[in-house]
Amino acid sequence: MCVLTAILEPSAPAQRQELDTIDVRLGAAPVPVEGTDGRTHIGYELHVTAPAQGGDLQLERLEVFGEREVEPLVSYGPDELEGRVRPDVERNARYGRVVRRDTTAVVNVWVTVPQGRRAPRFLCNELRGSGAGKETVVGDLRVNVRQRAPLVMGPPLRGGLWISHNGPGDHRAAHWGSVLVKGRRITVPQRFAIDFLGLDATGRGVRGPLQDSSNADWVGFGAEVIAVADGVIRESRDGVVDNPPLFEPGPPASLELPATGGNYVVLQLGGKTMVHYAHLQQGSVAVRTGQRVRRGQLLGRLGNSGNTNGAHLHFNVVDDALIANAEGLPYVFDSFEVLGTTTVDAAFGDAATYPSPPAQVRRALPFNSAIVGFPRN
Ligand SMILES: [Zn+2]
Repeated sequence: MCVLTAILEPSAPAQRQELDTIDVRLGAAPVPVEGTDGRTHIGYELHVTAPAQGGDLQLERLEVFGEREVEPLVSYGPDELEGRVRPDVERNARYGRVVRRDTTAVVNVWVTVPQGRRAPRFLCNELRGSGAGKETVVGDLRVNVRQRAPLVMGPPLRGGLWISHNGPGDHRAAHWGSVLVKGRRITVPQRFAIDFLGLDATGRGVRGPLQDSSNADWVGFGAEVIAVADGVIRESRDGVVDNPPLFEPGPPASLELPATGGNYVVLQLGGKTMVHYAHLQQGSVAVRTGQRVRRGQLLGRLGNSGNTNGAHLHFNVVDDALIANAEGLPYVFDSFEVLGTTTVDAAFGDAATYPSPPAQVRRALPFNSAIVGFPRN
């Protein structure tokens, strides 16, 4: 972790004072990842703790510079910060850029590397805010970027068209927004998680009207969920009844898979890297704990069990067996198609977006709202 030394920028020399109690830290070390837009992206969070003494801290601007950049790669003003800062993560507060004293806020940062450039080795984060005496706080936090490639894996589903929902790059999506706080430790286990919902060739997610639909009417229901790589089944569960569509399951007791996943499979890829497949169809789980599987092997079928109100596959990659200890890891699928973008509202409402002609993509992370086509074999 890097720790910021913050100083107050003087509005007049006489008012100059040191302020070393604002603490800005980096969450998980960022890893650059190629997105479905053909660009390299770096997603991470800054944790900002306002001092116990003094007034509230209002965040005003964040600029992020690469190692040789003169122009910032990211420049968030007050409006942008308003939607990117979650103040008081311990009490799970909504969005807003005022950090109350003695509380910690999380700022989601998404850096897009200019076309044709390599990912920077480090990023300088310049954070400004107004503090107790209306002074401007200037922080300068250097974040090292890991120079390693993200995990490359095969498709998680056999064939079909899918919307990448709640997916990477959307700072307000439920996955990147689900922050865990344990003492001083803040983790984001679902940073790059995706909910895959099936689409037909016309971009619709359900056959017939949504309100009257059964699970079987949802295009993705029953699709083959497969191993993204060779590995060992670390954990699996079956026997949980699928929810009817639009059922509201209520808040789960924790983010651990037994509380949220319904029928699920955890595939261990080596080391502590775990791949989560959740909400599988009751009676479909085809593997047992301890079993070795090969890439492409059937694990189960897409369902609607657990903390879900519509048939989808929750897919995530983390660095620990326990969610409470895990950080979400970026990953790329080695080969798939992208057919434009859509939204769940469109796909399940009256205005479905017709998929565009397919573009072949290699080694990329499907971004939020991308329409993805996975290979049949
Ligand atoms: Zn999910």
